[in-house]
Amino acid sequence: MQNFKIGYLSNADLLARFGKLVQTERKITHLVLECIAEIDSRKLYLDKAYPSLYEFLVREFGYSSSAALRRIESARLLREVPEVAQKIESGALNLSQLSKVQQAVRTVQKMENRQMDVTEKQELLKSIEHTTQQQTEVILSQALSLPIFTEDKEKNHRDESVTLTITLSKEQMAILKQAQDLIAHAVPEKKWADSITYLAQKEIKRRTQTVLASSVNSDSTPVASVAACQKNRTPLSPRLKKIVLQNHRCCQFKDKTTGKTCGSTRFLQIDHRQAVWAGGSNDIQNLQVLCAQHNLHKYRQENFLS
Ligand SMILES: [Zn+2]
Repeated sequence: MQNFKIGYLSNADLLARFGKLVQTERKITHLVLECIAEIDSRKLYLDKAYPSLYEFLVREFGYSSSAALRRIESARLLREVPEVAQKIESGALNLSQLSKVQQAVRTVQKMENRQMDVTEKQELLKSIEHTTQQQTEVILSQALSLPIFTEDKEKNHRDESVTLTITLSKEQMAILKQAQDLIAHAVPEKKWADSITYLAQKEIKRRTQTVLASSVNSDSTPVASVAACQKNRTPLSPRLKKIVLQNHRCCQFKDKTTGKTCGSTRFLQIDHRQAVWAGGSNDIQNLQVLCAQHNLHKYRQENFLS
């Protein structure tokens, strides 16, 4: 490699070099998004023992949470509106703007209970070309009659405490105050940090119990496989399901190449390692815990559906 020292470049050469690199960076951004969109559509993160594309980008490739979300949002928009690629390469649009458009589209779809078509998205994208992030937010808010965007802010302190700044709508604030009144017996001083923590703990406890209960009480085999399995099937007893869940409290799906285990603790289900239709028994050795995504993925693979 050529022995290159940037400090020896003339001003003109330095600026020319920078211009070329920025172009290359935009080209690479487009190619990265193209790859993410294809990985997303093939669900390759599942084979690699990740329960979601987001987890795959953050834990396997070291993207920060916000960088991963921006790329996922942008890649999905790129797949739907392919001409976005040329706009990224020319610098007319960037990842933050694409991500804002996706967020705005989702909000409108939810508020108005309708799907936004490609033409509408193309018009929105056209309207925010070559604008700053702030201008993009204003244009989207005006075009779609959305509430103004507000960013949550987290400030971390030396003792690991965090100052959180959020903006709530009038309605959100009223709901929060109502909840605070309802839990006044447990948090009498009504400090927001204590109230929010109490409510969050309640919700976590409720969800954990729901997951355990639904895994223990329900038949977790993917819906489409039920008909095929029904003939020879003896339902698993709740006690057996509970034991399996207590033995393995997270998804056991393994990447065959690296041996990495998924480890997700969300939406857990009990799976027969060897399917019932293939002669698999209800013996505890034939039972494992999988997250819903990996249970469905395994079923698709076994039935050549993917
Ligand atoms: Zn999993």
